[in-house]
Amino acid sequence: MFQSISYYSTNHKTETAGFREALLKGLAPDNGLYMPDHLPHIDTSFIRNLSRKDYHETAFETARLFLREEIKDTDLYGLVQDAYDFEVPIENIYERKYIMRLDQGPTASFKDFAARLMGRLMQHFLAQENRNMLILTATSGDTGSAIANAFYGLDNIQVVVLYPEKEVTSRQRKQMTTLRKNIRIIALNGKFDDCQALVKKAFSDHDLDDLNLSSANSINIGRLIPQSFYYIYAYSRTANADEQENIIFSVPSGNFGNVMGGLLAWKMGLPVRRFVVATNENDEVPVYWQTGSYKSIVPSRNCISSAMNVGHPSNMARLVTLYGGMMDETGKIMKDPDVEQMRRDIFAISISDKKTIETIAGVYNKHKVILEPHGAAGWAGLLEDFRVHPRDADPGQLCVSLETAHPAKFPDEIRRVIGIDPELPPSMKGLDQMEETYDKLDNNYEIFKEYLKDNY
Ligand SMILES: *Cc1c(COP(=O)(O)O)cnc(C)c1O
Repeated sequence: MFQSISYYSTNHKTETAGFREALLKGLAPDNGLYMPDHLPHIDTSFIRNLSRKDYHETAFETARLFLREEIKDTDLYGLVQDAYDFEVPIENIYERKYIMRLDQGPTASFKDFAARLMGRLMQHFLAQENRNMLILTATSGDTGSAIANAFYGLDNIQVVVLYPEKEVTSRQRKQMTTLRKNIRIIALNGKFDDCQALVKKAFSDHDLDDLNLSSANSINIGRLIPQSFYYIYAYSRTANADEQENIIFSVPSGNFGNVMGGLLAWKMGLPVRRFVVATNENDEVPVYWQTGSYKSIVPSRNCISSAMNVGHPSNMARLVTLYGGMMDETGKIMKDPDVEQMRRDIFAISISDKKTIETIAGVYNKHKVILEPHGAAGWAGLLEDFRVHPRDADPGQLCVSLETAHPAKFPDEIRRVIGIDPELPPSMKGLDQMEETYDKLDNNYEIFKEYLKDNY
């Protein structure tokens, strides 16, 4: 029998919420992150059923396990079909090793998967209640454009995006600053973590209650759940489900929202042997694995995989709660998780920029496949895992490494390393010539607050 899912806060200082409430609030009232109190179960026959289905059908079948009490199947199907109107290619590299390209959406990064469905779910609920909302979001490059594009033109939602002025590529910036309408973009004189800190502060500032703020960062549960779907899709397309074959996923990680989606799929019953988590030189998590003590990196380090320049992953509290521990919003561990078990399930590795560049070159020379810096870090992480766990490299072992952005978003790096100018995906053609609109702000909360009060 279906038991309805409630969402608790990782800080455990507030009541549980239903999905609609958790989605529209974003952050829990006690500043914790929402997590499902239990997960729906998927079994072999569920997975076997998906093996010939399109991506949006896999997404629908999985989404309804979470949402069947919140939203009618016909409505949900419509939202999911509309959100996922692009391809999800899974490319064989060699033996049973694959790359899944999550870069075919409108902003050419995997963040489209979560943002597009979350935007449609929010709009659905807000329209029902005849309410409006102001979304604040901090971005290190790809979230902002995915959120801005996903919410662009929606009636009940306004969006403000903050990005660190010097840390996004010009194409990433243009995917945000050329939209206008209900979208405002702020270039902050600071780092990604500063952007995130301003957003977090605004959420807990009662002077701003009238603005009806919500978040669209990877902390929103409405982004996390859709990020479990493509793991299930990848498995259904590549694995022998009847034999319960297990799979290894490699995930280039910054805020750990992507890999949290994978962990949810695994806890739902997907047969995963191991997750490889590849960070860039922001190695606070790999160091935590090694030493058992967690320390954020302030300020975060600038690497070429810029969307992973995160010194304290905002989903860390979720990872810790999944392993029986508790971490507050400042990154302080209030109760230790089972670190031993975490180490067994998840291989965490830091990939240097040098290694990332070597991997872009190596994969191109060996397999004629173009990876961008984030996907290259993921692939490099998988190869490191093969050194440490040689059986993972067996020819028969199924592995899927996630390519999280399109190479054309990082043309300078690609050109420099392999001498090729990656072709733009259709969604990005013409972008270079479009006119931009954005505001510049200093990294100061009072200034940001005034800006919000003046404009909304
Ligand atoms: C955001 C992003 C990541 C990191 O994902 P998290 O969910 O924050 O771990 C990796 N690659 C690209 C291209 C991204 O945009």
